Amino acid sequence: MKIKLIDICKKYGKQEVLKSVSMEFSEGVYGLLGKNGAGKTTLIGILLGIIKANSGEILIDGKPVRSQSKEFLNKIGYLPQYPQFYKEMQVYEFLCYMAALKGLPKKETKNKVEWLIEEVNLTDAKKKKVGALSGGMRQRLGIAQAMLNEPEILILDEPTAGLDPQERIRFRNLISKFAKNRTVILVTHIVSDVEYIANQVIIMDEGDIACQGNIEELENSITGKVWEVTRNKGQDMDDLDFSNVSNLKREGDNTKVRVVSDTLPTKDAIITSVGLEDVFLYYCKGDKE
Ligand code: ADP
Repeated sequence: MKIKLIDICKKYGKQEVLKSVSMEFSEGVYGLLGKNGAGKTTLIGILLGIIKANSGEILIDGKPVRSQSKEFLNKIGYLPQYPQFYKEMQVYEFLCYMAALKGLPKKETKNKVEWLIEEVNLTDAKKKKVGALSGGMRQRLGIAQAMLNEPEILILDEPTAGLDPQERIRFRNLISKFAKNRTVILVTHIVSDVEYIANQVIIMDEGDIACQGNIEELENSITGKVWEVTRNKGQDMDDLDFSNVSNLKREGDNTKVRVVSDTLPTKDAIITSVGLEDVFLYYCKGDKE
């Protein structure tokens, strides 16, 4: 399935939240990356038909989405940023209920729910009330419900919020496995969420696309613009512009500072290899947090 968003514009009052945004999704894992307020959730809301755009068009396999929207929505699994769950239901019950809402045939439901519970590592919590789950467990339950109808397109908004490092790894594996022959869109402001699993990354900034491509292309686009400055304990750092600093790392008595800059940031800076975190900083310098 090919999704094409063409010249999507959205205003709230005078604020242009989306400034004629165009992008395409086909099979694979996409990372839609941007700071809070960049316009990611609005764009996804428009794609899902929850929010109305001021102008622009959405094509699914070349056809305008309006004419086939129900059919289209059946092919989508969505985990919103703040999912609302029925707190009194048990995990197993909840998934069966969601399966019924999504129109899954009854005879398929039991196996599917059992399988998903195992996949997202909630087997021990099967009989627990949803309201009693930890944040991470609830997130995994959200992922499981989004995957119930084995959607062709799975959209996860801030999917690793509340997950501990181990759960994040499990999540990545789950997505990689699930992504075969499908489209997965990970919407996030956390670079490491997409760094290891996204085939394509789209970075949004202030309602616009700042850059897009595969991770290698994006990293190559700023080769020679990432610097490392090493300072030892006694040395001050007053000459560094911290809005350009992508990372600080202590090594013994030294601090290694990564700086993203078009030009030599300090006399003692040396060029170093590029990571996606640096790319993100380079293209989204505006402070909107
Ligand atoms: P992101 O998902 O990247 O954090 P959003 O799409 O949620 O960004 O928001 C983009 C901008 O639109 C923000 O400045 C936000 O305050 C504004 N915005 C979002 N929803 C509304 C709304 N319903 N009314 C007014 N402004 C909104």
